[in-house]
Amino acid sequence: MALSPLELVREEVSKCNRCGICQTACPVYQVTRRESSSARGHHYQIRSILEGRLELDDELHRPLSECLLCRACVPQCFAKVQTDQVVAAGRQSLAAHGGRIRVLPSLLRGILMNPRRMSRYVALLTLMKKAGLSRIAGLAGNRAARAAELLPGPKGKPLQERIEGLSLAPARPLARVIYFMGCGSNYLLPDTGEATIRVLVGRGYVVEVVRNYCCGLPLYVQGDMVTARRLARGNLRLLKHERVDAVVTDCASCSSFLKGYSSLLADDRKFGEAASRLAAKALDITEILSRPGPQETLSELPLSVTYHDPCHASRYQGLREEPRAILRSIPGVTLVEMEEADWCCGGAGAYSFTQPDLAQKILDRKIDNVARTGAQALVTSCPSCMIHLAYGVRRRGLPVRVLHLTQVLEMARQGGS
Ligand code: SF4
Ligand code: SF4
Repeated sequence: MALSPLELVREEVSKCNRCGICQTACPVYQVTRRESSSARGHHYQIRSILEGRLELDDELHRPLSECLLCRACVPQCFAKVQTDQVVAAGRQSLAAHGGRIRVLPSLLRGILMNPRRMSRYVALLTLMKKAGLSRIAGLAGNRAARAAELLPGPKGKPLQERIEGLSLAPARPLARVIYFMGCGSNYLLPDTGEATIRVLVGRGYVVEVVRNYCCGLPLYVQGDMVTARRLARGNLRLLKHERVDAVVTDCASCSSFLKGYSSLLADDRKFGEAASRLAAKALDITEILSRPGPQETLSELPLSVTYHDPCHASRYQGLREEPRAILRSIPGVTLVEMEEADWCCGGAGAYSFTQPDLAQKILDRKIDNVARTGAQALVTSCPSCMIHLAYGVRRRGLPVRVLHLTQVLEMARQGGS
């Protein structure tokens, strides 16, 4: 019989010796100073359920939903307890027991499983934003107002529609890749996705674009494994990745989750093997752009930049040097390191909506660090982080552009303008 999600993390939880060293690195604990928000607190909560001392009920919703799944606690911990997996298991169990955590997944499911519906929602939200949604939404409460404020300004058509006229093949092809289009790049930041495709083609890659589904991560973090797995199977059917050399994405969250498809579908008789093959071909954009090979001539781009490490790039994939080396390779670009560059920005997918007050305090700390660098641009490699960081920069009134790494490269390709 299959073990329950909590049984699967029993051994992990038992490794925690309750030393508390992880607390210094936890962005949430540093705000709340509550034991229940820390990694040690989460392990104690799950252990108490496993040992029958605590009920799996709505009381657990608050502490479990406070975790960013950022993994900042893991390197601090001698036992390397995988707190993100423990918290995810707690959320799955809570969702399976009909806890409050179900509300968000049912909304998300409806949108993410149906790309057309997603397109319509984004178009409607864009229209409402133009018409002053933020003020109207404020009447409906803090979370609705925050959702409206966070949205970037109108960006025109989704990337899927924009690329129809683009040439996606270089004169001398080096290899063939699929561009996995994250929801952020498609619907909210299509300029980012377009820059990524242009940079890939410039490097010699034939780029195939498939109308893929969401990778599934937003559902996984909410405890909805069933829909996360359905989305993964849907992508395996659509991508037909056997024909290409790599599946590339400019979203660190997507690349990390695609690499995890092998474990997500490990017990799936029909899709398990294909999931492992796809996971082996998945590449973050910073990985493929770091590969040796013919390089384009880049123009001088006089720009001082600071780099924010997305948690899903630095801690989930170990990609810290790659983006920095790419930035340093652009003539004229000066990289000014910020303090706590790998401290979570507080965006964490839907966290900014589910935990608006905590997300804001964590974002404030990040923006303080950005401001101290004096950099002209804040660069990262995850559209989800970009949206949250851009909101923080706007709110603070900083004269800083928030850019994806591929947008900086594209500026240098286009003559440094
Ligand atoms: S994963 Fe991040 S937010 Fe969660 S307990 Fe660890 S450090 Fe704190
Ligand atoms: S998670 Fe690790 S660092 Fe934190 S209390 Fe447990 S053993 Fe100590």
